[in-house]
Amino acid sequence: MKYLLIFIVVIVALMLHKKNRAASDQLSRQRRDGQRLSPPEPMHACTHCGVNVPASRCVWDAQHRPYCCAEHARKG
Ligand SMILES: [Zn+2]
Repeated sequence: MKYLLIFIVVIVALMLHKKNRAASDQLSRQRRDGQRLSPPEPMHACTHCGVNVPASRCVWDAQHRPYCCAEHARKG
């Protein structure tokens, strides 16, 4: 009877370990795929205050200088 209990505990522990490992593998695979889909975005320093801003969020003036926000673009 004692060995049966130990056997059941070992089986449950192995099942939990396998489940955790499968979840971990899936998470790392999703991270890898996500990195492949979205390459790093270029950053630009705001001409007014110097804060780095992703290119897609920059505000550009007529001379094509990057700014972090419309207020800094207005101030120059
Ligand atoms: Zn700024």
